[in-house]
Amino acid sequence: MSLWLSGIGVSRGIAIGRVQRMHGGDLDIPEYTLAESELEREIARFREAQQRAKQQLRKIREQIPHGTPGEIAAFIDTHLLMLDDRSMTEAVVALIREHRCNAEAALRRQRDALMAVFEQMDDPYLRTRRDDVEHVATRVLRILLKQEKEAPAMPGASAEPTVMVADDVTPADIILMPQQGVVAFIAEYGGPLSHSAILARSLGIPAVVGLHNARRLLREDEWVVVDGDRGHALADPDERALQFFCDKQQRQRDTRRALDRLKDRPTVSRDGVRIRLLANIELPEDAQQAAESGAEGVGLYRTEFLYMNRQGLPDEEEQYAAYARVIGSVQGPITIRTLDLGADKQVDSGRSQSPTPNNPALGLRAIRLCLKEPELFRVQVRALLRASAHGNVKLMLPMISSVQEFRQARRLIDDARAELLRENKKIGEDVEVGAMIEVPAAAISAPLLARHARFFSIGTNDLIQYTLAIDRVDDEVNYLYDPLHPAVLQLIRLTIQAGEQAGIPVAMCGEMAGDPRYTRLLLGLGLTEFSMHPAGLLEVKNAILQSDVGDLRRRVTQLLQSTDGRHWRETVEALTSIA
Ligand code: PEP
Ligand code: MG
Repeated sequence: MSLWLSGIGVSRGIAIGRVQRMHGGDLDIPEYTLAESELEREIARFREAQQRAKQQLRKIREQIPHGTPGEIAAFIDTHLLMLDDRSMTEAVVALIREHRCNAEAALRRQRDALMAVFEQMDDPYLRTRRDDVEHVATRVLRILLKQEKEAPAMPGASAEPTVMVADDVTPADIILMPQQGVVAFIAEYGGPLSHSAILARSLGIPAVVGLHNARRLLREDEWVVVDGDRGHALADPDERALQFFCDKQQRQRDTRRALDRLKDRPTVSRDGVRIRLLANIELPEDAQQAAESGAEGVGLYRTEFLYMNRQGLPDEEEQYAAYARVIGSVQGPITIRTLDLGADKQVDSGRSQSPTPNNPALGLRAIRLCLKEPELFRVQVRALLRASAHGNVKLMLPMISSVQEFRQARRLIDDARAELLRENKKIGEDVEVGAMIEVPAAAISAPLLARHARFFSIGTNDLIQYTLAIDRVDDEVNYLYDPLHPAVLQLIRLTIQAGEQAGIPVAMCGEMAGDPRYTRLLLGLGLTEFSMHPAGLLEVKNAILQSDVGDLRRRVTQLLQSTDGRHWRETVEALTSIA
């Protein structure tokens, strides 16, 4: 009998395959006390397991297919670096000695402590690093326990496609999927911002996560349809359902082929409105993928990745070199966002530890942290301004909530500029400074902010979280995360209107901009600059080419003035439905 299951779709597309359940997330970890004389042997056993884990990862790295985006190898490199980190090596050895316990117990203790630290972090990206700690520790634990996952055999030519169903899926698992005939995955845990989700999107592997109990509910070897667009899985589909999804899959393939032909076409709507499509990038390697997708530039470069998975902070020279490299490889203008870290940064940098705040997302993060720690900000701004000599660079300030905050940051940037000029350092001529609009207060006071900022970029990921009071990484309340909520749409419109009136450009760089279901609605709200993950760019472009912007604007303007709930529902549904 067919069974519908619902989770969170984190990587789009339809896939059909046989269930292959991966067991073993739940390792049974023994704990026992050792005699003093056994300690050195236990430590050697731990170090050997660690070396073996590194060998495994290096082997996986070698198997990455040629032409795969650079960021993929970076995920493995991150895990390799973590395996060498003192927190995963010497700290565990110290625990073995201190507690006279076996290596598995010491590693579990250290893993849990590290995961607890990451879980408290304010920045959602850093919080997902908890998964990395878990993946790396589990790999070593499996080796110690002699419970290594059997890599699924390479499929023969006639082998049937499989869908991996697991408690959690690591980036290393995902890299091997295409070669192993795995066409999609379902995970019981995880969210759209995890490394695994980002990777699945980059590789085009449909994925649904947060599907609790999936391994209990799905039977080994039964057929399952994974609908990454809607976050559904359909087990044991009947003839008709299967036919429906096969047709849908075929349509998606045809569409993808057709989309590739749009790469070099200018982005102009049916009624002649010119729209700019930009890319969001995280790692220096992403710049190439951005250019290949036909993006006109970069609308969001998230710099916090430079600060992650390391001890201490990057100094000005290191940052300058990294930014200059990215700027050099981007075609067109690049908007670089200054640090968007949370109260968590002390952990790695050795700065003073303060107690974990109760609501980290509402705490000392992004620009607030930079203003509180001007030296941290100054080093980054100096590096950015120096790198701006190499291209068309704009600086963007995250999480601005008031004019005062923007002006204070602006003053620090001006000071850094003056300092560099005194030192005869080369910097870009007119580096524009803009504000991210991701706090409701900023959207509501956008007309005031627009008198100071040279541009706006709407960060819908946070704007939705703060407007609807929903923690964006908490899968318990994920069902309430609604980009189409009237309050969210009104705030987007307010921001765009303020930009239009002040004559400054307004872009959107949150996930909403890269989802083609929302393209027509956003055009109707007056958006003319979309910045997104490069993988989604052509679909959005396609939607724009087929749109009549004038008509959409009329419809959306009427909608925003309406107090009729039914009118809202019907119009929003009509504008967001995709053929
Ligand atoms: C956003 O909030 O929409 C955004 C683009 O920033 P981040 O996802 O990095 O918080
Ligand atoms: Mg944000």
